Amino acid sequence: MTLIGLPYEVGPIRPPSEAASLLIRATRNCPWNKCQFCPTYKGTRFERRPVEDILRDIDRAAEYHGDVFQTAFIQDANSLVMKTDELVKVISHLRTRFPGVRRVTSYARARTAARKSLDELRQLHQAGLSRLHIGLESGYDPLLEYMQKGVTSDLVVEGGRSVVESGISLCLYVVLGLGGRLRLEGGETWRSHALQTAQVLNQVNPDYIRVRTLTIKQGMPLHDRLLSGEFEESSDAEKVREEQLLIRNLEVTSYFVSDHSTNVLMDVRGQLPEDKATMLSIMEQYLELTEEEQVNFRLGTLFSYFGYEPNYGSFSDFLVRARREAVTGVIENLEQEQPGRSRQLLTDFSRMLI
Ligand code: SF4
Repeated sequence: MTLIGLPYEVGPIRPPSEAASLLIRATRNCPWNKCQFCPTYKGTRFERRPVEDILRDIDRAAEYHGDVFQTAFIQDANSLVMKTDELVKVISHLRTRFPGVRRVTSYARARTAARKSLDELRQLHQAGLSRLHIGLESGYDPLLEYMQKGVTSDLVVEGGRSVVESGISLCLYVVLGLGGRLRLEGGETWRSHALQTAQVLNQVNPDYIRVRTLTIKQGMPLHDRLLSGEFEESSDAEKVREEQLLIRNLEVTSYFVSDHSTNVLMDVRGQLPEDKATMLSIMEQYLELTEEEQVNFRLGTLFSYFGYEPNYGSFSDFLVRARREAVTGVIENLEQEQPGRSRQLLTDFSRMLI
């Protein structure tokens, strides 16, 4: 895919933190592509791009933009799948053509990271690879298997530790609500998901932990399981309770990031362990709200995301009485128009989040 106006190829996604980055597509799509909760590359085939094509794209990007970027992101889903010497070539060329770039990052799969030797990861770091974004999703193996993640918690620990040891900064992603109301192995999956995920994170101690929240949409294999009734989503309060259990059990020095619009409480972020008490207290305050207040908060937050007024930019906005009353007024109007309209809007908005 070439974005309109750009003389080089760009893939479909990058992490929110890379919104201002130069995007260079080194491979196309995902070599695994089976995760039940992921629609991004479904219906596409994984392709390796010839190295000379990638280098040519870097040259074209340099001629087109000039040395204006401070950060760069190498696409698509698992750049580590490239031969190490080829990826070194790509990163070195990018660093040469864009001397102003201070950070080069990429997505990778934990299984692939575990297959690279420590020496190979060090070569990539020396060439200029600053950070890898890896989807842990869950540390609970039965859930990883249910979601067809194609990786075990042991492999994430192995691959994650190698990345950290190589000097490359590591960001591990966790999906809140991933287990929904499943009872895998007869127990409450959400609980095992939170506890086992904390265990894996404690063993790896990544630089960043990023949370996103499960949102089921058409195009995800999980959507069929939702329609058949096999999978049931958890409520916002259940997701927050799960996040609370996760954070309570973390013994890391990572920065906890909640920068995704799917998350119920984006205010729950900070440096661990210093900010842990504040993060837990925000969740506690949320869980003390009535169900009606929780709907009010979520709807007001989504109003902000979709550019409607009045809205809440944060949980502290919700605690301001005047702002809460303004959102309540909108909800009452919606309910007068059609009973149940506010909850329907909440579901519709949630499905539109990306
Ligand atoms: S979550 Fe990652 S590994 Fe899984 S299918 Fe999506 S892009 Fe591929």
